[in-house]
Amino acid sequence: MIRRNDKFNIKSDIIIIGCGVSGLYCALNLPKDKRITVITKDSLENSDSFLAQGGICVLKNENDYDSFFEDTLRAGHYENNKESVDIMIRSSRNVINELIGYGVDFERDENGELTYTREGAHSDKRILFHEDITGKEITSKLLTETKKHHNITLYEHVTMLDILEKDNTCYGIVARNEAGTPITFTADYTVFASGGIGGLFTHSTNFRHLTGDALAISLKHGIRLQNPDYIQIHPTTLYSKKDGRRFLISESVRGEGAILLNKNNERFVNELLPRDVVANAIFEQMKIDNMPYVRLSLEHIPTDEILTHFPNIYKQCLEEGYDITKEPIPVVPAQHYFMGGIDVNRYSKTSMEHLYAVGETACNGVHGKNRLASNSLLESLVFAKRAALDMTKNYESLSGYDIANVNLNNYKNYQRLQSEYKKIVLDEIERMKTEHEQHNNEVECR
Ligand SMILES: Cc1cc2nc3c(=O)[nH]c(=O)nc-3n(C[C@H](O)[C@H](O)[C@H](O)COP(=O)(O)OP(=O)(O)OC[C@H]3O[C@@H](n4cnc5c(N)ncnc54)[C@H](O)[C@@H]3O)c2cc1C
Repeated sequence: MIRRNDKFNIKSDIIIIGCGVSGLYCALNLPKDKRITVITKDSLENSDSFLAQGGICVLKNENDYDSFFEDTLRAGHYENNKESVDIMIRSSRNVINELIGYGVDFERDENGELTYTREGAHSDKRILFHEDITGKEITSKLLTETKKHHNITLYEHVTMLDILEKDNTCYGIVARNEAGTPITFTADYTVFASGGIGGLFTHSTNFRHLTGDALAISLKHGIRLQNPDYIQIHPTTLYSKKDGRRFLISESVRGEGAILLNKNNERFVNELLPRDVVANAIFEQMKIDNMPYVRLSLEHIPTDEILTHFPNIYKQCLEEGYDITKEPIPVVPAQHYFMGGIDVNRYSKTSMEHLYAVGETACNGVHGKNRLASNSLLESLVFAKRAALDMTKNYESLSGYDIANVNLNNYKNYQRLQSEYKKIVLDEIERMKTEHEQHNNEVECR
């Protein structure tokens, strides 16, 4: 059910902020007798989940467990939380089966068996995909399912501005409705599912409205974060002089054989190394070449494979004036993913009572210092479901918060609040970066 909202306080049992894969899957795994509200800052389809191209990892068989685990750790510079990685891998088959149950159509071979592809830093093919629009396929099916549930109400263009907090317990949120008026949503449980932080950066593959609001609010209320300076730069986005979101050239293009070239048409890096290593090699090469990009050539991938596996990338590049079946394209690294976030335990619970965080905004340590390609949709889904099951198991109603005491006038100047929040998050990223650098220098000196 999609609602317009004209009240000044809306009461539900659980409020979820964000309707990407993590928010929707969390809602779908909550009991049907709970009233669930899901809000999004933009339209329902404008989430990064819709943009995911490459695919979603799965444990394809028991023999692949060790190398899937090791690949995730190696990409994460061994800073990963091993328990979280184990939970993600072990839960993957069940999540994929549930997605298929919702009608998600993964690529299959002529015998009807699932087909797997590979991306950088994976030692084997273990990624399920739907053309090069896997995220859209998954998220649109979850959205369709959510709309069938009468206990779930979706609100578009409603922005969380703050939480309602007393004694380290969360009682809901303050939000800005479609008309720009501050209102409150009270709930027994609140779930941040509000995505990444790309909107804070000039060059990013993320939607511009993803500005890490939940992080700023967490910092304001003393909710613990983990490694907010762990930010992934994707090596290959289409170079453009235009403003706005950068178009991603998925890692699976390199996984299928595309190569990176310098200005003399020479390869300069192994394209399948982890993302941070490839991105650094590109930055280095751009300096040597004195160019604002390097080039990516798909000459070793058969044209029919380009057209069937990467139709969206083919179309988008053509619109920018490049035919990827015939010529190399200019590519440049851009901000892409947020490994750090709001610190959560293995059930996605934050350091505040009655508050959970799931998806890219949360950090359970799965990705360590650098995410392995195609692990994020999986991690978002696995830990969103765990949040839902944990709330269900330990459900406690809340009372004792008087919304009459909330001064909504404090939230009227949205622009001021936005720039305040941006500064809070960027300052914290810088602070943690410095702290990590100092720590690393000390370790080197020992
Ligand atoms: C171009 C691109 C390609 C990718 N490809 C892959 C891939 O192939 N495989 C993979 O595993 N991962 C991929 N990823 C990463 C993956 O898509 C994301 O990590 C994942 O979808 C995050 O899901 P989420 O639910 O946490 O957040 P999102 O899907 O980003 O959803 C965030 C939601 O929160 C809402 N929101 C934010 N702030 C507020 C607020 N203040 N008030 C109300 N609502 C708010 C937003 O409107 C949105 O609905 C890709 C990402 C990008 C950008």
